[in-house]
Amino acid sequence: MESSAQLPVIRVAVPLPLRQLFDYLPPAGAAASALEPGVRVRIPFGRRDLIGVLVDHQAAGFSSEVELKRAEQVLDAQPLISRQLLKLLRWASEYYQHPIGEVFAAALPGALRSGRSLPHNGWELTQRGRGLPAGAFPRAPSRAAAIALLQRRPQSNQSLKTEGISRAVLLALKKLDLIQTAAVAETDKKSRREDPPQLSAEQQQILRNLPLEGFQCHLLDGITGSGKTEVYLQLIETVLKRGEQALVLVPEIGLTPQTLNRFRARFCARTVALHSSVPAGQKVANWQDLKLGNASIAVGTRSAVFCSFQKLGLIIVDEEHDPSYKQQDGFRYSARDVAVKRAQIENCPVILGSATPAMETLFNASRGRYEHHRMRMRQGGGEPPQIVAIDVRGSPLQAGMSESLLTELRHTLANGDQALLFLNRRGYAPALQCHDCGWVAECEHCDARLTVHLRRRRLLCHYCGLQQLVPERCSACGSAALLARGLGTEQLEEYLLQNFDVPIHRLDSDVVTGTSISSKLDEVAQTHGASIIVGTQMLSKGHHLPNVQLVGIIDCDALLHGADFRGPERMAQLVLQVGGRAGRGRSGGRVLLQTHYPDDPLIRQLVSEDYAAFAAQLLLDRRQRGLPPVGQLFVLRCDCSRDSDGETFLRTVLDNARTKIPSRCRVIGPLPAAMPRRAGRYRHQLLCLAEDRQSAQMALKSLLHCAESAKRPRDLNWFVDVDPQEVA
Ligand code: ADP
Ligand code: ZN
Ligand code: ZN
Repeated sequence: MESSAQLPVIRVAVPLPLRQLFDYLPPAGAAASALEPGVRVRIPFGRRDLIGVLVDHQAAGFSSEVELKRAEQVLDAQPLISRQLLKLLRWASEYYQHPIGEVFAAALPGALRSGRSLPHNGWELTQRGRGLPAGAFPRAPSRAAAIALLQRRPQSNQSLKTEGISRAVLLALKKLDLIQTAAVAETDKKSRREDPPQLSAEQQQILRNLPLEGFQCHLLDGITGSGKTEVYLQLIETVLKRGEQALVLVPEIGLTPQTLNRFRARFCARTVALHSSVPAGQKVANWQDLKLGNASIAVGTRSAVFCSFQKLGLIIVDEEHDPSYKQQDGFRYSARDVAVKRAQIENCPVILGSATPAMETLFNASRGRYEHHRMRMRQGGGEPPQIVAIDVRGSPLQAGMSESLLTELRHTLANGDQALLFLNRRGYAPALQCHDCGWVAECEHCDARLTVHLRRRRLLCHYCGLQQLVPERCSACGSAALLARGLGTEQLEEYLLQNFDVPIHRLDSDVVTGTSISSKLDEVAQTHGASIIVGTQMLSKGHHLPNVQLVGIIDCDALLHGADFRGPERMAQLVLQVGGRAGRGRSGGRVLLQTHYPDDPLIRQLVSEDYAAFAAQLLLDRRQRGLPPVGQLFVLRCDCSRDSDGETFLRTVLDNARTKIPSRCRVIGPLPAAMPRRAGRYRHQLLCLAEDRQSAQMALKSLLHCAESAKRPRDLNWFVDVDPQEVA
């Protein structure tokens, strides 16, 4: 008691949705040296025991009126979370205004959050063992050898095995209390396995302009097939030679296998995967290997940005424009933006790579915050595909396709080439309608129409998952004249099967999962001869389809004139990403864009100029409307089971906060969301647009403060989304 009274009060991030740290007395008998920030502690919380992370100490001289509880136990001898990572997590909690304990939870694998100790992969001397003299066990050579090795430093199972030390010897020494199991760092092989190709002039120039010294954010703006991945590989090699590690973020699980394979083919260094499908035990092992430096490269999705490293030397965010980098529930962070912040804190470079950079990234580059590197040549020559708009106004359509598209499709197939048709709507048709009275089948829980899935004979709600049999008769008038209205991929596939005598590959989430898409696409990419690929946005991500000569975008109007201000940006990214997959083998690929607005300035930019011109045009519009990336946007959203409650709640919050909202911040709402009811919950929002980051943060804090203190019905949830990706 006496001794720990002199120890500081510790501040703990508790894994609960609470926006504060909690103070505890250190565990009884804990040494001050055990109380390093970044260790896990077991603490009593209410009637429960929880595992939190020690974040900080309370300043000396702190005295409290309240009686503090005592933490029960420190779980780690060494911090699991480095000082830099602690700083990053605190920044993220502040920037996204998300409860700190939940932010910390994102940085640890589940097994460690639940208090398990790190897996042991080797041996070290015990205290007793450290007392042994050099040359101990002169008459037992294998024991002597084991002790001699461990006197140098802790050894991994692998290296002990290589040295010929048997498990029996180790267990015998353990029985004598001379050695114990431990988490041990190994030396990772750094050498190269496969030689790189001769670099192109463009690649060489970029590498010359990209010194890997200290923090700098680089935009690698290169068309698909320009060899960005090769640039990543070269940069990583430099970092590995220095004994540092690299983190590579990819937007989708489906992209990890191909990326891992490419890295493993090049380097002997251990490359590990970090994503939600890695089995729990493997995840902890990978996490530990990165933390100890036993692995040198991590390839992972979003949450990998919070992984622990021994010495992080480079971060790469591939396909940085991809909306999947933004987490859409709970802790709503952008892994790309966190990656930039992390690089700054770790003082290492970060590379954002894309053929279609996000508006935010281009804006930062134009203001000189990021270095802008361009790659405009395809590897192996070959022209980028030509983009052509097809005016479909008034023209007859078959399965959504105009005569011009059908003609080119037939032509492509006659040449023995592949064609790709892109339609971002799965199912047979987006609606079921009664031909006699006009009734439309709707979800009973959402303000949404049910999608017809004919092959499964079901109506599905794509928002809440509701499923029902396709009815025989209209619910309103009883007529049997029910029509599937509109077009989905299933229907397009059916039409193609009936009208074309070539293999048809449909790729959407009804037929392939996120993890199997990669192997499926590889399979399709390797087939030769005429065939048609039909699919949704799953096709837009990072896969090369060298035999595709024609890409048809069935409907680009939906995004161009949708409710979301990011619609046109997404449309252009999809078109260029899907188009970029095509015609890699040869030149002359074509992308046909079916639209009712061929004269729209954005469509014209896309067709006649390039993405840069398109983005410049789009930026003008965003600037005029004060929207991101020029303005700062956040939303306060809520959902509840009674329609009026949400609006009342947000109105109260806004009224109470009004005087504290800076004049450079405009608040719009409360408004119902674009889909006012989803899964039985009514949804409302306040949109806040600020001229600068500081005003946005001020407004955000006052609104949060008022939201926390406002009266609300029990079942009302609210949350903020900073830099939201979807604002419809
Ligand atoms: P990106 O990532 O920009 O889409 P990749 O790095 O995947 O492009 O390169 C496209 C193709 O060109 C790959 O098959 C790659 O192996 C090849 N490639 C890249 N750089 C070179 C080079 N310097 N010489 C020959 N082939 C290259
Ligand atoms: Zn009817
Ligand atoms: Zn629904």
